[in-house]
Parts: sequence; C-alpha cells; structure tokens
Amino acid sequence: MGECHASGPPRAPRGEPSQPSEYHNAVHRIGSFLVALALVPALGARAQTLPDLGESAQTELTPQAERRIGDAMMREIRRDPDFVADAEVSDYIQHVGFRLVAASPETRRHFEFFVVRDRTVNAFAMPGGYIGVHTGLLLAAQSESEFAGVLAHELAHVLQRHLARQYEAQSKATALSLAAFALAVLAARSNPQAAQAGIVAAQATPAAVYLNYSRDFEREADRVGYQILEASGYDPAGMPAFFERLQKATRLYENNAPVYVRTHPLTTERIADMQNRQASAPYRQRPDSHEFQLVRAKLRVADGRPEDAVAYFRTALAERRFADEAAVRYGYAAALARAGDFKAADAEIALLRKKAPPHPMYETLAARIKAGTGDLAGAERALAAAGQAYPDVFAIKAERAEILQRLGRHKEAAAALDGLIKQRPGEARLYQALARSYAAVGARTQQHRALAEAYYLQGSVPAAIEQLQLAQSAGDSDFYTLSAVDARMRELKRIQLEELKERRK
Ligand SMILES: [Zn+2]
Repeated sequence: MGECHASGPPRAPRGEPSQPSEYHNAVHRIGSFLVALALVPALGARAQTLPDLGESAQTELTPQAERRIGDAMMREIRRDPDFVADAEVSDYIQHVGFRLVAASPETRRHFEFFVVRDRTVNAFAMPGGYIGVHTGLLLAAQSESEFAGVLAHELAHVLQRHLARQYEAQSKATALSLAAFALAVLAARSNPQAAQAGIVAAQATPAAVYLNYSRDFEREADRVGYQILEASGYDPAGMPAFFERLQKATRLYENNAPVYVRTHPLTTERIADMQNRQASAPYRQRPDSHEFQLVRAKLRVADGRPEDAVAYFRTALAERRFADEAAVRYGYAAALARAGDFKAADAEIALLRKKAPPHPMYETLAARIKAGTGDLAGAERALAAAGQAYPDVFAIKAERAEILQRLGRHKEAAAALDGLIKQRPGEARLYQALARSYAAVGARTQQHRALAEAYYLQGSVPAAIEQLQLAQSAGDSDFYTLSAVDARMRELKRIQLEELKERRK
C-alpha cells in the first residue's frame, strides 16, 4: 500500500461545452477528480486497469456498457482490502437488498449488494446494478427499516438509470470516455474524503469534489424508493427518520457532514415530501431481524481495538442497554475471541446457547473460538455437524474449507471448495483457495486450471490463458480433465478476441 501505480497523469476531458449548464459543472467536477486520482495512491492503482473499457466516448450508455463498467469497477473493489468478503455480512445485505428488489417493478435485472469497511455513513450505486454500503451506515442506522430505506433510495437510482442519464446528458457536450466516467464515479463513491484531500493538494476548490445527482434525480429516488420500501414490508417511516437525523448531523458538523449527505444533497423540502407520504401511509412498526443485530455486532467487533470492543459489549450487557440481548451476547463472545480470551468467549457462547434459540452464526463463531484455542480438529467436527443442521448456509461450509486447509487436509478442502464454487461461481478468492489446496497435493494441472479461473474473474484474460497453457503442459492429468482445459482455452481465446475488437472501436 501507499505506492502510486498510476502510469501517467489522467486525461482531461476533451472539448468544452458550448452552453454552461448543470452538467457543465458536473463535468468539471469529473475533471477535478481525474486530477485527484494521480495524487491518491489507492485510486491511482485503480486507474491502471479501468481504461480497458475503451477510450472512445459514447453518447449513449447502453445497459451492456453499464454492466461492463460496473463489472470492471467491482473487480477493483473486490481487490480492495476494505471490501467485506465475510459471507455472513454479505449474505445479510444481499437478503435485505433482494427483498427490496422483489418489491420493485424490475425483478429480473442484475443486482449485487456489497459492504465496504468504512466508518463514514454512506451508500452508493454503481453502473450495472452494483450497490455498496459502508459499515458506518449499518452501524449508524437505528432500525433495520432505516437501513433498508437508504438501500431502497439507492436501488431507485439504479432502476431510474440515473447514472446513465447523467452520463448521456454530459457526454453530448464533452465527450468524456467511459473509462474516465467510471473513474470519476468510483472516486466519488468509494472515497470522497481521500479524493478531497487530493484536490486540496492540487489547489482546486474542495467544493468541486463530488459528483452529485441532480435535485430532480434525488426527488425521484426518494419517491420510487419510498414505494419500494413500503411494498417490501419494512416500515416506510424509516426513510424520512434516517434522512432527518442525517440532516441534523449535517447542521451540527457543518464542514464535516456525513458523506451520504454530500453525495445526496438533503433538503428540508425532500424530508417534508417523505413525511407527507408517510402521513398517508398506514402505521406499521416492524421489529428488527435478529440478523440485522448480529451483523451489526460482528462489524462492531471488527472495528477499532479489540479491548474497546470487549468493553463496549460488556458495558451494554451490564447496563442492560440493548434491544436484542442475544445479539449483544454474541458480540461480547466475538469481541472476547478477537481479544484472544477464548476461554471467556467459550463461556459466553455456552450461555448464549442456553438462553437463545439456535442460529447458524453462533455455530461459526463457536468454531472460530475452538480454532482459536488450537483445537482445529474439534472446530472442523463442529462445522461438519453444523453443516448438516444448516445445509444451505454458505458461511459454515466456507469456514470449514478454511479449517481443512489449516489442518493440511487438502483433498477434503478441495472437495469442499468445489462445492462452494458451484454455489458462488463468481468469487475469485474461492478459486485462489482451491489452487492452494491443489498445489499442496501436487495436482498441477488442477492448480493452474483453478488459477486461470481466478485471473479470469479478476478481469485478466491473458493471465488466465497463460495458466491454462501451464495446465496443458503440466502432464499430471487424465484425458477428460485435459479436454476440459482445451475447451476452456478455446473459449477464453474467443473472449480475448472479442475484447480486442471492442477496444479498437
Ligand atoms: Zn440519492
């Protein structure tokens, strides 16, 4: 980290708009972003791969192009150490997200919801239906309906194609390339503060930092988002309640407003609109799900120093300051485990099992505690049993595969990982883990074959082809595996050719 990989200064937008407009300003903001990118190491590293999207400007952002940009951005985000790959956290947010999608008019489009470790309160929509949430937002929400309200608002930005409409409107005047647009969106959404620091260093105005949606788009996202929230069964009052609190915080901190408010300007008018809608809606208070509280506890445990997390949950239990006692006890056990006090953590888990109905997240934590004491074999047995009780829970199987690897039982680990890949074929890290297990047992063809898929998912077709060549010449495989490698090679070469054609356009 801390190294700038940007190959050169980012390109400035070509041409100048003839008429000053709202989009004129937006484009200048994008220009400032590109200046900032050269100065912000993390974003500079991203700049290296995104221009693969093609250099030429387009006047229209088709759903296919949107998906391509979104996929490319997502590949970069997945590599970011702050991307939360934790299956329990990501399963939860996908669950809430798809509950909202099911209540929306468009259930068949591609959506993916993900979490980024960042204390700022923010959520953002990217092209292609990718919606990200900062851990800070999950922790700041006072109810699950508040959290779902922000997610519904972002979902509405996607459904109404706001990013695409913004791009199409600005590109007529300035011919900004897709890559530059993607970079600007990525910079604005992923790290406005770093981008801002970069801009200050470049002596540009800090006010020109973010890529805002227009007020009309915000109003539309409120309206559509509210309808979705209402239809999904969450309490629609959650949306204005959260926005109102954000607005109050903004007034309090002036220059240090929550990031969400800076990227989605809140007005008194917007909040009044939402409250009017709410006044005509039936009263419906919905209790928070246990998973909402468990996931928040898990995120809080991972945040900051372990001893602070222990103190936080211990105090909450002692003062009986909680809405969900089992979730707080779970948090306490997890915090103790993180602090290395496995004995106390184990006692808390035992108490939890006695007092609360069973839950798969208790099983994975109990296994992590066992593994922490050095009893890897016991942890594996516990996870195998939990896998029988909860056959659909991905996190239990993922945890078990990891323990099997640590035990050196790589044949079983490879089998477990194969099963996980069938469930989630898009996750590069599963293929990387599979390659490690194959390497450990000396299965070289399979090792390179798995690495090829990992590279492919990370967007590098040439590196994937190289791995397949290594697989072909490894000489330790049967006829059927080799035919599969050959077939995959043909497919990747075809994809490579298409990508080259696309780039020459
Ligand atoms: Zn918005």
